[in-house]
Amino acid sequence: MSDSKNPDVIDQAVHFLREYYHGRDLEIRSAHAHAAVSHFLGYNSKKALQSDPDFEPFDVDLINYREVGTEKLAEHIPRMKETPLQRLSMRDLAAVIYAGLAPACECCEQKSLSITPLGYEEREPDGWVCQTCADEDESAYAYCKFCSDDYVYRSSEINHRGECAEHDGESVYDDEELEDMASLAEYFQNH
Ligand SMILES: [Zn+2]
Ligand SMILES: [Zn+2]
Repeated sequence: MSDSKNPDVIDQAVHFLREYYHGRDLEIRSAHAHAAVSHFLGYNSKKALQSDPDFEPFDVDLINYREVGTEKLAEHIPRMKETPLQRLSMRDLAAVIYAGLAPACECCEQKSLSITPLGYEEREPDGWVCQTCADEDESAYAYCKFCSDDYVYRSSEINHRGECAEHDGESVYDDEELEDMASLAEYFQNH
């Protein structure tokens, strides 16, 4: 145990993965789940992950900036002793591990496959919300009309024109352009 008040993110992801598949009648051994989470994070083994001094397992936002991928999963899982992991699509497995590594939704407090960090690619997002909660609570969450719908913001971060801080004024600029065109048309009509 660490003296940190945050839980160990790896342990949480292992727990989530095993529970998720248990609910689908697939029993994943703890060692295999630990290995899979380590592989998703780019390590050859759980041991390699644990002995990396740069890896901060208590950082709740680590999934937001760590490089992840299915390469090592695809390399190592076939070599494991027989496990249901070998019958899963790597993409689905990766989505489950991602959800397990990410914090729980700040609204429903559940880990979710549709979990999204708030804001635009912040290293330390202000919070995390699942898609269902983001869509249900329109007074709390909003989308920027210029960012793609993949980015969820707190409503307070979106101005009355529906823009995020990055895109602040973007639609005003468009309005000015329209005005310019309108006054140009007027000019030609009057001259
Ligand atoms: Zn939620
Ligand atoms: Zn935007």
